[in-house]
Amino acid sequence: MAPVWLFDLDNTLHNASHAIFPAIMANMNAYIARVLGDGTTPAGIDAVNAARTLYWKRYGATLLGLVKHHGVDAGHFLAETHEMDDLASMIRHEKGLGELLRRLPGRKVLLTNAPHRYSTMVLRHLGIQRHFAHHIAVESMRVHGQLRPKPSKLLLRKVMRHQRVTARRCILVEDTLANLRTAHALGMRTAWVTQYVKVGDAVATAHPAKRLTRPGWVDVKVQSVRHLPARLARLR
Ligand SMILES: [Mg+2]
Repeated sequence: MAPVWLFDLDNTLHNASHAIFPAIMANMNAYIARVLGDGTTPAGIDAVNAARTLYWKRYGATLLGLVKHHGVDAGHFLAETHEMDDLASMIRHEKGLGELLRRLPGRKVLLTNAPHRYSTMVLRHLGIQRHFAHHIAVESMRVHGQLRPKPSKLLLRKVMRHQRVTARRCILVEDTLANLRTAHALGMRTAWVTQYVKVGDAVATAHPAKRLTRPGWVDVKVQSVRHLPARLARLR
């Protein structure tokens, strides 16, 4: 049976840390400052940082805390924070991604916590959209009416049901360790892409002792997705 590949987008298929994540972070801070402010004056950066960190730690995503505690509209937040003047010029990526995806046996699904509009633009720029049978963006990550982005187990189970596939046949390809850990706990194979992981990222700081050491729940650690074909045996 051919595997079903679940591919993350940001910092897996392109380098989002170069310019995109800093821009999103700035947009996010401005948004949170407005939400926490009194309607006229935005909140200060210390209050913004505290809220962002708290919600990220507690819910795995800042957005979920803003929705839960401040009545923020998820769609509005995602649109505002992913608004960039010239996205195309900010994207950095390797060559040969299309060829790599073509060579990997099995169906590929894009599974990104980013919004649909943004991820569609990035996919188009990378020229790889035709290689994906499905594109699951954060707006579609609802289970029983609740937003459940990665690393939600409810989400991954829903994806498996929709794809009509068992966990054993799924391979999650990601830069974020927390997402790989959940996938592994459900019985999926896991591939960790490390070239865009930066020391100091939320990803790395959540596991400081294990920074770039392969944890037990990671089957394959590769610098680039282009190294996946050589490691197929360990993922089957
Ligand atoms: Mg990522």
